[in-house]
Amino acid sequence: MTFSPDSDNRIPVIVLSGFLGSGKTTLLNQLLSHAPRSAVVINEFGATPVDQQLLRQHNVPLSVLSGGCLCCQVHGALTPLLKNLRMAWQAQAEKPFDRVLIETSGIATPEPILDTLLRERWLASRYRLDGLIVTVSAAAGEDALNRFPEAQAQIVWADTLIITHTDLAEDRQIDSLTARLDQLAPAAAKLHAVHGAIDPDTLLTFQKQHRYRLISDPPIPEHRFGSTTLQFDQPVPWPRLQAALENLMIRHADRLLRLKGVVYTTEHRRPVCVQGSAGRLFPPALLPARTSEDSRGRLVFITDGEIKGLLESVTAALETTDLP
Ligand SMILES: [Zn+2]
Repeated sequence: MTFSPDSDNRIPVIVLSGFLGSGKTTLLNQLLSHAPRSAVVINEFGATPVDQQLLRQHNVPLSVLSGGCLCCQVHGALTPLLKNLRMAWQAQAEKPFDRVLIETSGIATPEPILDTLLRERWLASRYRLDGLIVTVSAAAGEDALNRFPEAQAQIVWADTLIITHTDLAEDRQIDSLTARLDQLAPAAAKLHAVHGAIDPDTLLTFQKQHRYRLISDPPIPEHRFGSTTLQFDQPVPWPRLQAALENLMIRHADRLLRLKGVVYTTEHRRPVCVQGSAGRLFPPALLPARTSEDSRGRLVFITDGEIKGLLESVTAALETTDLP
């Protein structure tokens, strides 16, 4: 079988991007509930993938590229991954999925990913880029835009911007962010979401008008982010861990950009999903019980530079015998 570049056999691809802690995975979960026939490619900057666990409730083909970001360290890994995915799709009479969703890491600049999809001939004749959706936190987005060129690049390339965390922001923050987004991405559609709630049809039926400009962006300086993983071999007392993490998020609000993970607690049989960003620890969420034997908990911290004593402050809080 042969495929011409304009063949309808091309598989639609939606790229989902957004800065650390802006709600990409929440949105992805919501899209998957609505559109289960999707194959998912997730890229995590940390060496220990966490999103995988958060998505396990959806029975979709899932590929994970971890330990670097798609725009640099694992850039070369995307092409063979998409080639294999396409060949597996072609080989099956009953097509296993109807679209591909690629979730980039929070620090990736999307241009090299879009470039791969549009310029790599083999891929471009078999995949059709339907759009770049970018999440921006109403509460923390403007600060990220001021500090990180990666956050700006995501906005500039977006077809659709989803403004998240509007329930955590003041009206003046939302107004100021919206003005900034209008300036950076005047043509992008802008939608508001609370807890990832947005009409998935609006997003999924969105057809790209192929207005991609393959211009050369000014080069982004090498990422200065670091990732650290803390692993728990045993269940931990949640109130103590929560207090330690809250303290940490507040104390290092400027440099501890993102915290996420899954832990087992002495209070619940089910794993607990832990998330935080921009000085705030989000309310914990119970995940479905797992069938896997691996019940070790893991927290991944993404930092801007190094934070001394980051892990020690958490483990020390867990080891004290007196309740705080
Ligand atoms: Zn990169």
